[in-house]
Amino acid sequence: MGRIEGKVAIVTGGARGMGAATVRLFIEQGAKVVIADVLDEEGQALADELGEAAVFQHLDVSKEAEWSAAVATAQSLGSYNVLVNNAGIVTVAAITDTSVEEFTRIFQVNQLGMFLGIRSAIEPMKDAGGGSIINISSIEGFRSQPGLSAYSSTKWAARGLTKNAAMELGQYGIRVNSVHPGAVYTLMGGAARNSEEYLNEHTYNMLPIPRIGRAHEIAYVSLFLASDEGSYTTGAEITADGGWSICVRSPDMPCS
Ligand code: NAD
Repeated sequence: MGRIEGKVAIVTGGARGMGAATVRLFIEQGAKVVIADVLDEEGQALADELGEAAVFQHLDVSKEAEWSAAVATAQSLGSYNVLVNNAGIVTVAAITDTSVEEFTRIFQVNQLGMFLGIRSAIEPMKDAGGGSIINISSIEGFRSQPGLSAYSSTKWAARGLTKNAAMELGQYGIRVNSVHPGAVYTLMGGAARNSEEYLNEHTYNMLPIPRIGRAHEIAYVSLFLASDEGSYTTGAEITADGGWSICVRSPDMPCS
């Protein structure tokens, strides 16, 4: 018996990276999953590989009109009760070099897309007798780094939206939590530029857990929140960052 046997989930940005790892783990643990992404080829290939428990649905999370098809696909699989708002994009530019168009694009996908996902899940999850909404933020939702003004703004906003939704929806048995990964080895997290070994040796060796994270390590956090094991957890911020947000090790300090 899987930990989320019988549940039906939508995972946005599910075609690759952390989203794909979440899709795989959820199916392994008994759920049916809608892979919702703009990457049609990758999403369909993943669904074909995973069999009947996975269905690909084209979804641009920033387009209000596209959400109803994703929800309908989920409902065709059973009672829709888990949403992982994972789709995200990043841009790295100084504030002075960030155009209104670029800032708006990041806002539309990371922040507006999350809002639309939550809003479209409320009635179906009420009908299902409850549910779990998992918003993938970042440790850049607690702090920021140079060049991340647009991205970091949306990841902070994810925390506020999560808490508001948790307040409004708890009465319907719908839990809403945010997950805050540190650096994770995906295309967004450095895989497009460097090997995992290189990043472990040169970039992330100063973390309390001295390496970059792996996509499945974040998927396991979402699995807990999606499952009934998380039944009293709502409005929470769960960090999975190898300890990056507490400190980095310094050769000048003892015990480090
Ligand atoms: P990724 O780039 O590998 O995957 C992102 C996925 O989102 C892709 O499949 C992409 O097609 C999809 N996507 C992008 N725009 C979309 C849209 N408009 N509609 C639907 N899908 C869309 O990145 P990842 O590292 O797997 O990131 C997943 C989430 O984790 C993102 O929200 C990201 O901000 C967050 N995150 C990543 C890291 C990291 O180091 N990788 C760290 C913290 C948080």
